[in-house]
Amino acid sequence: MEFSRRAFIGGVAAAIGSGVADAQERVPPEVVAGNVVVVGGGPAGVCAAVAAARNGADVLVVEQGNCLGGMGTQGLVGPFMTCYDKSGEVQIIRGLFDEIVRRMVAIGGAIHPREVRAGTSFAAWHVPGHDHCTPFEPEALKFVLDDLCREAGVKVLYHATFTAPVMEGDRIAGVDVFTKAGPRRILAKMVVDATGDGDVAFRAGVPCELGDPARGGAMQPATMFFRIGNLPEEAVEAVRRQYPKDVLCFKTLLKKAKADGKWHIPRPHINIYRSVKPDEWFVNVSRLNGVNAVDPQSLSDAEEAGRRQVREIMAFFREYVPGAQDVRLLCTASTIGIRESRHVAGEYRLDKDDVISGRVPSDSVFLCSSSIDLHGGKGASGTLYLTIKDGNWYGVPYRCLVPKKVDNLLVAGRCVSASSVAAAAIRVMPPCMAMGEAAGTAAALALRENVSPRALDAAALVSRLRAQGVFLG
Ligand SMILES: Cc1cc2nc3c(=O)[nH]c(=O)nc-3n(C[C@H](O)[C@H](O)[C@H](O)COP(=O)(O)OP(=O)(O)OC[C@H]3O[C@@H](n4cnc5c(N)ncnc54)[C@H](O)[C@@H]3O)c2cc1C
Repeated sequence: MEFSRRAFIGGVAAAIGSGVADAQERVPPEVVAGNVVVVGGGPAGVCAAVAAARNGADVLVVEQGNCLGGMGTQGLVGPFMTCYDKSGEVQIIRGLFDEIVRRMVAIGGAIHPREVRAGTSFAAWHVPGHDHCTPFEPEALKFVLDDLCREAGVKVLYHATFTAPVMEGDRIAGVDVFTKAGPRRILAKMVVDATGDGDVAFRAGVPCELGDPARGGAMQPATMFFRIGNLPEEAVEAVRRQYPKDVLCFKTLLKKAKADGKWHIPRPHINIYRSVKPDEWFVNVSRLNGVNAVDPQSLSDAEEAGRRQVREIMAFFREYVPGAQDVRLLCTASTIGIRESRHVAGEYRLDKDDVISGRVPSDSVFLCSSSIDLHGGKGASGTLYLTIKDGNWYGVPYRCLVPKKVDNLLVAGRCVSASSVAAAAIRVMPPCMAMGEAAGTAAALALRENVSPRALDAAALVSRLRAQGVFLG
C-alpha cells in the first residue's frame, strides 16, 4: 500500500479523539502518513530522514520541538566531538555529517574539524579525545537542517509529541502523536526511533535498560548548557598563565569560590568551548545528579535547578575571574541536556570491550574513535574517561540499530543498543548522525526489498553506505 504525504482519513482520528465536546477540538481528522516515519528530529533523526528520502522513501519527521537538531540546537550542545580517528590523521565520520558541517562552514556557521586541534580554546583545552572537534553555531545548524530536509523532500511535523505506537502483533504500523489539534495517528511502513530516550521502542514493548543496571540504574548527570558573550579569549588565557597547574580551566578560582560558600555545583572545573564567534563561549559546567529524563517531574525540576546553577556560574565569572566582570549571558538552552536515559535492547549490544579493543564487525555501518566519557562514572563529580587501546577506531554494527522483538522498527542515536559504558562513547553527535544515516538507509532498502530491517542483507547496506560516502576503512 502506498501512502500519500497528506491523506485525510476519516474515522481514525475520530476513533482516537472521540467524545470531545469542545468545538475548538473539532478539527479535520487528518492522518498524516509517510512510508517512513522518523520520531525525533535530532542529529540521528535528521540524518535518518534525509538518508531514507535520498534512497527513495517518502519520509515524515515527528518532532516535539520547533526546530531540527535536538541537543545541537535546542540543547545548545557543542562542539561536535571528534570525527577523526585516534591518531588524528584520518576523518572517519564523513557522509551526511560532513555534508552538514561543510554547509555550515559555507554560511560562516562552523569551522571544519580539519582546522581545529586539541588543547585549544575550541576544545576547552582538553587533549585526549578532543582533536578535530567542530565548533558550530546552533542557528546555522537549524538553517542547514531545514535546507537538507526540504531539498530531500522530507516533511517535518513540529510541535507533535509521540504518545504511543500503533501495533499489529509484533509489527509497528505507525505512531500516535499529540498535536495542537489534538491526537493524530500517523501510519507508516517503517518507523525510526530517534527520540534519544527510546520512547517508541519502549512503548512498543522492546526490552530497555534505564541507565546502568550494574550501578543500580545510575544515569549520567544532566547539564543546562548556556552561551556567554563578551569574555575575551585573552582574559581566559591570562588566567591560564596565572595558574599553569590548572590543566582545566579555573580550578584554583573555583576552590576559592567554594571556600567562600559561593560554589555549590558538584563539578570541580569549568568547561568552556569557544564558539565560532570571538569572545563567545558555550558553557558546559552545570551538573545535576539523579535526573531521570523519563520521569516528567524529575525532568521539570531539573530545568529549574539547571537555570539556578547558570546564575551561580555567571556570578562566579563576574566575581572571581579577572577580566570577566562584563561577561554577558546570551541564552540558556531551551531544554535541559540529557546524557543518558534508556538503552534499547537490539540484536547486538555494543559493550565497553568492543570500544576499547577497537573491534570492527563485518556489518559495521560506521567507524568511530569517540572515547568513553562517563560523567558520574567515578563518584558524583568524577568522570570515567577511557580511550581506545587497540587500533585507531572501532565499528558499530548494524545489529545495534535493530531492536529485539518488534519488526519494522529501527533505533538510532543516544538510545541505540549499547551498555551504559559503551553508550558513553557513541552518544556524541557525529556518531549519532552516522547511526541516523545508516538507519534511514536501512529503512529505505528494507522497504524496497519488502523485508523487515532484521532480515535486511547487511552486506548490501554496507555497500550502499560506502557509495554514499560513508568511510568504512
Ligand atoms: C550536557 C551534554 C553535553 C554534551 N556534549 C557533547 C559535545 O560536546 N559534543 C557532542 O558531539 N555531543 C555532546 N553531547 C551528546 C549529544 O548532544 C547527544 O547525545 C546527541 O545529540 C544525541 O542525539 P539524538 O539524535 O540521539 O538525540 P537528541 O539530540 O536528544 O534529539 C532527540 C530529538 O527527539 C525529539 N523527541 C524526543 N522525544 C520525543 C517524542 N516523544 N516525540 C517527538 N519528539 C521527541 C527531541 O525534541 C529532539 O529533537 C552532549 C550531551 C549533553 C546532554
